[in-house]
Amino acid sequence: MTVLLQDLTVAIQVAFGLLAIATLADWIRRRDAQRTYLVLALVFLALVVLIGPNADQLGVSRQPVTDITLVIFLLSGYFLLLFRDSLIPLGASARVIITVGITIIGAVGIAAGLPSDPNVAHTPFQVVALSAVVATWIVCVAEPILRLGRASIGRPAVEGSRLRALSLGYAGLIAVVLVGTLASSLTQNQGVVLATDVVALLVVPLLYASFSPPVWLRRLWSQPEEDEFRGALHDLLLYTPDRAKLAERALDWSTRLVGGASGFIVDSDGKILVSRGMTTDEVAQHSARAPSNHSTLVVPLDLAHGKGSMTIVAGPFTPLFGQDEVFRLRQYAGSITAGLDRVSLTDRLAALEKAKSEFLNIASHELRGPMTVIKGYLTMIAAGSLGDVPPKTKTVLPLLIAKSDEVNSLLEQMIEASRLEDGRMALKKERSDITELTDAAIENLRPLLSDHELKVDMPPRPVWADVDPDRFQIVVRNLVSNAVKYSPSGSRVRVRIKPNGAHAMLSVTDEGIGIAADDQPRLFTRFGRIENKATAHTSGTGLGLWLSREIARMHDGDLTVESETGRGSTFKLDIPLDRG
Ligand code: ADP
Repeated sequence: MTVLLQDLTVAIQVAFGLLAIATLADWIRRRDAQRTYLVLALVFLALVVLIGPNADQLGVSRQPVTDITLVIFLLSGYFLLLFRDSLIPLGASARVIITVGITIIGAVGIAAGLPSDPNVAHTPFQVVALSAVVATWIVCVAEPILRLGRASIGRPAVEGSRLRALSLGYAGLIAVVLVGTLASSLTQNQGVVLATDVVALLVVPLLYASFSPPVWLRRLWSQPEEDEFRGALHDLLLYTPDRAKLAERALDWSTRLVGGASGFIVDSDGKILVSRGMTTDEVAQHSARAPSNHSTLVVPLDLAHGKGSMTIVAGPFTPLFGQDEVFRLRQYAGSITAGLDRVSLTDRLAALEKAKSEFLNIASHELRGPMTVIKGYLTMIAAGSLGDVPPKTKTVLPLLIAKSDEVNSLLEQMIEASRLEDGRMALKKERSDITELTDAAIENLRPLLSDHELKVDMPPRPVWADVDPDRFQIVVRNLVSNAVKYSPSGSRVRVRIKPNGAHAMLSVTDEGIGIAADDQPRLFTRFGRIENKATAHTSGTGLGLWLSREIARMHDGDLTVESETGRGSTFKLDIPLDRG
């Protein structure tokens, strides 16, 4: 047991020695001012562990060594308090009081001439002085433990874990110091000594992890947050509606992920898209500065309109961005760029769509008035109401009237389409005989049908359905005029109504150019026209079938097609019947 304890004492000294060397080396390498006090606290603590028990072997008079150890011991606590002050300021007067207080306690400790061997009997003054020194150190250490422990809540994963490791490490040290100095009776018990030695040994990796955690540990700490980040990023990129919101959330997550405290995103036009935890002046200062350094991470964003960037500035306790963070942030930068571009594209498309439907709306309304006048006068001229018409002029009048009807029905389609888009299409349903409505629609198209053989096949009795009569006729007119448009002169166009249980099927069949199976899904989309040799000379808007299917569906019915290239098409309108 004694040998084991001796070995443990050596191990503790070696461990603290290594801790001092490693933290010092790390600090010199990165010249990181913010952690200076923490390095000093750890190095001084290591010196206490190294010098204290070896005072006898130093070959100099014992008392000065003991006094120096006492000062170093107090300073190790004082520097930890100053480190806490650099993270969470104590206030100027508090700092002065503490400094003066510690100096007085140190002076009292030296004046008491404390013995280096704790087992030697102490005078009452020495007991008071020793208690005051230990109590001061404990206060200096306990206060930061509590403050930093509390500050760790809600911090980025790595930063929070580092603060917790630091608090835990120092809490272990307090326990060791308390047992070792105050409860000296306990130090006679080998079991207790063993336990405190083990705790002292375990404290070392904790303190080192808090100071400079290795990559694997950082990754382990940040893993849960990273998983959450991935899920959040997915939602963020796919569903965030505007760029500002997306940039804000992306920046928020990115700073959390690498343990940064603040940052900003610059758009391709140089404007600041979003900033976090920084004033406008600070953002301007940072964006004017050169690329990344050890406390600032700048990641380029290759946006569709040019280069943007994301800058993350380190938090006070995570001043260093390792390779790992840089790599991870670059990885996510690609996704953030895609997300920002996606939103711009969606915005542009939406603006384009809006412009298109505004144009539809304005153009159709503006054209309707003049067309009504033209059609009216043409009809009056044809009827002879405006006097005799020369025979040659008379022959072209039916064609002019048919063409003005065509324009009118196009305008009607455009108006209805823009109503549908704006959600302004309200059906005016009434119980109607759909055979009668179909007849009326066909009648309207008569001039168009002169070159085709029209066959109508309908039941002799009424077929009642609850429909909007005007909209129902729009669908029929569209299907019949398409059948005429897309089939050769002289071919047959057949219109059929067949009641079938609770539904009726209105079908329009032609013997025309037909539609390839691959093209069929596109027929019913807005502006969906099929461009090929056969349709090259037929004009149209591509709105008719889209509008017709929407109208059918608003009636709880549907519009479908069966077709084969070169063999004609059948469009089927399914409408629920009125059973009342
Ligand atoms: P439009 O006829 O004004 O172009 P539609 O929405 O009515 O618009 O039709 C969309 C496309 O479907 C047409 O451009 C045409 O290519 C095709 N189409 C429609 N009806 C037929 C048909 N009966 N036969 C062959 N192709 C058709």
